[in-house]
Amino acid sequence: CNKLKDEKALRLSKKLSKQNWDTETFSWSKELHATLKNVFKLPSFRPQQLQCCNAIMSKHDVLLIAPTGGGKSLCYQLPAVVNPGLTVVVSPLLSLMEDQVWSLKNLGIEAEVLCSTTDRIQSNAILKMLSDNSDTSIMKLLYVTPERMAKSKRFLTALQKSYFSKKLNLIAIDEVHCCSQWGHDFRPDYKFLGALKQMFPEVPILGVTATATSKVIVDVQKMLNIRNCLILKAPFNRPNLYYHVMEKPSEKVEVYNLISDLLKGRFAGKSGIIYTFSIKDAEDLAGELVTRDIQARPYHANLSADRRTLVHKKWLKGLIQVVVATVAFGMGIDKPDVRFVIHHTMSKSMENFYQESGRAGRDGKRAECILLYRFIDMAKITTMMFSERTGLQNAYAMADYCIDASRCRREIISKYFSEVWNDSKCNKMCDRCYHVDCVKIPKIEISNHIFDLYAIIESAEAIDVKLTGTKLIDAWYKKGPMNLRCSQVEVPSIDRYWAEQIVAFMILEKYLKEDFHFTAYNTISYIRKGPNVPKMENDVLFHGARVLKLPERDIAWANGEVAETDSNKTPRSASQAEKRRRTKGAGSSSKKAKP
Ligand code: ADP
Ligand code: MG
Ligand code: ZN
Repeated sequence: CNKLKDEKALRLSKKLSKQNWDTETFSWSKELHATLKNVFKLPSFRPQQLQCCNAIMSKHDVLLIAPTGGGKSLCYQLPAVVNPGLTVVVSPLLSLMEDQVWSLKNLGIEAEVLCSTTDRIQSNAILKMLSDNSDTSIMKLLYVTPERMAKSKRFLTALQKSYFSKKLNLIAIDEVHCCSQWGHDFRPDYKFLGALKQMFPEVPILGVTATATSKVIVDVQKMLNIRNCLILKAPFNRPNLYYHVMEKPSEKVEVYNLISDLLKGRFAGKSGIIYTFSIKDAEDLAGELVTRDIQARPYHANLSADRRTLVHKKWLKGLIQVVVATVAFGMGIDKPDVRFVIHHTMSKSMENFYQESGRAGRDGKRAECILLYRFIDMAKITTMMFSERTGLQNAYAMADYCIDASRCRREIISKYFSEVWNDSKCNKMCDRCYHVDCVKIPKIEISNHIFDLYAIIESAEAIDVKLTGTKLIDAWYKKGPMNLRCSQVEVPSIDRYWAEQIVAFMILEKYLKEDFHFTAYNTISYIRKGPNVPKMENDVLFHGARVLKLPERDIAWANGEVAETDSNKTPRSASQAEKRRRTKGAGSSSKKAKP
């Protein structure tokens, strides 16, 4: 029965998607356009906005998937103003709702928030307005938290009254991926939103999100009981974002140097965000930058709400150059002129990375998304993520973005959102594409390295010692405990960064695997031989050696060779890193592959 239902829903939603929503021949078209211009003061629609408004106004359920900054809010705000009656907006964050209500009021649109901090008098007035049979045209949009929608009987009763007197016009659910456990911000209270379709069958539901993975979308359709909804997807490519991965120096102070050089040089006078892995990292880095006369402030969940609001406001005004933040600095960040987002540590998934880096360049002008990559960070992410359902897969996809030297960064991102954006052109707006003509990618023959690493792992296993990634590489360079050094393995002639790159590559190819162990305080990732060892041996024996392409051109960017001409200073530590590499030579190892 369920299968039949699903098939019927699929047919219906296919039929819907074939209709032409992109026209201005609906009875409301003139008013819609006039309201866009005169009330919202916007010149034209962005991709999928018109389609979305038309479908909702035709009373269809819609899921709109559009990137961060794509203008999803307008897709319920505009119909809310044009239609008579009330639009209820469910939104996960108080600050988000308050921001939106504030800007709506500035445009002369009546909007209210109903949440735990709304005072009694105000909330009574709102509830009265809902239950009142008379005109509600004084309130166009009502923002509520999912808890209120799910659990407040009083609110739901009032809303039902409004529904029965035909005044409830639309239910919009912002950040709708929070319904799905597959999404990256699952919120238990969003689960209850599934009851809305039953309670208000005649009211169209609009869910909006920037999460485009099909698993999440299907899940959301099921959770909300809108299986035959229209699905609209806006293009995810952000052509004005320049994607770049830089080598993260191994020494903390070098990382500080690199970042402060960027902030004082290339990004001087420009506004941005640095994302860190932990609260401690955010505090440390922000503190360090302040001692170097940079207007930086930390932002994370351990700060009071007031403090966070203050930092956000000062940054919006340009009084703070850079917010050094954990993922807590997220939803609802809507500053148009963010010129850079630096990831101090890779994100836990491509989805997170896309969202976080996507906060740059909302005004459509060029902005840069820099990720500082170091192998050691990979284990930070995997040990945190491996217990989640798709955690490890997500983390490895992120690592692949960092180390894959053969593909355009944008292409790697687009592959992640495959159904959405596949024919986009990078236009030299990533470090790979920018340098593709001018820097040759060195190739390293790595099969000998692979066998050396296996020898080290096997000899450690023989004495019952487990190796972390760092210990493995230490042993390779004949550092650390004597008993882990393997006599038949020579010290590699390559730089340690490339040695790490090889180990990361082997993990992603499953020639090695991470094995997770709990201690009382944390989780440790140990490195073992992986499930693809036989495949690899077969490849080496019958198809010649494995070759790893190394992205030497990363360094060219750091030295100022960039698409834009306004690059100024050379980051000190990056050029040091290059010197180091040049002297040691990153070229192919002269050793012969072992049989
Ligand atoms: P999202 O929720 O998709 O991340 P928002 O709805 O917060 O994005 O909108 C991001 C910014 O884009 C806002 O400043 C908004 O005013 C602006 N915007 C929305 N639609 C348009 C449009 N058609 N033309 C120009 N700017 C727009
Ligand atoms: Mg939004
Ligand atoms: Zn590219």
